[in-house]
Amino acid sequence: MSNDSLPRRGLMLVLSSPSGAGKTTISRALLDDDDRLELSVSATTRAPREGEIDGVHYHFISGARFQALIAEDGLLEWANVFNNAYGTPRAAIETALSEGRDVLFDIDWQGTQQLRQKMPQDLVSVFVLPPSLAALETRLKSRQQKTGETDEQVAYRLSKAPAEVSHWAEYDFIIVNSDIEESVAQVRAILTAERLRRERLRGIEGIVSDIRSIET
Ligand code: 5GP
Repeated sequence: MSNDSLPRRGLMLVLSSPSGAGKTTISRALLDDDDRLELSVSATTRAPREGEIDGVHYHFISGARFQALIAEDGLLEWANVFNNAYGTPRAAIETALSEGRDVLFDIDWQGTQQLRQKMPQDLVSVFVLPPSLAALETRLKSRQQKTGETDEQVAYRLSKAPAEVSHWAEYDFIIVNSDIEESVAQVRAILTAERLRRERLRGIEGIVSDIRSIET
């Protein structure tokens, strides 16, 4: 039996960063070549951006529906970010973890704190830092052409970076994203190691008792 096929509980891999630090690019690269990793599709009250598909990038829902989800305990965590509500639907995550599938979360520090409180054993948290403030500003501005955001929206995102970054020390791992390929390789290494944690593995006792059966 290879390490990859050991039965185990899935894990929750959280990536947080200030907007523009490269977290989404890292997430896409991880998801593209790892079929045991899936993205947690959040619910949000914000309007879809060009190219975003309902049910794929987000579940785009009304404020009233969001409140109803909170009331019925349907969200594992939720927070207000950039004046909109964002949250993680509970059922999909619980099923994935119990079936041994790993889930990638692109959520902010507030959501990560809630997951850490509720499910510390399942959580692996990674904070992605840009190499400098200047690099962050450059990335946000170059992305502006693609997203069609206004100068004010970009300035607002940048102004929120200090608050997000102030939570870096609450995370298990820190990645300084100066080179995207290197950062992706680093997160893959974290994932590989975390998948082998003793606490997540199931059925190891079988292998061990098999070997110990010749004990005299
Ligand atoms: P965007 O509007 O750019 O897609 O996301 C804005 C911010 O909301 C990002 O920092 C992202 O990590 C955060 N976010 C997205 N989904 C969730 C969620 O389900 N929960 C929390 N707490 N934050 C989220």
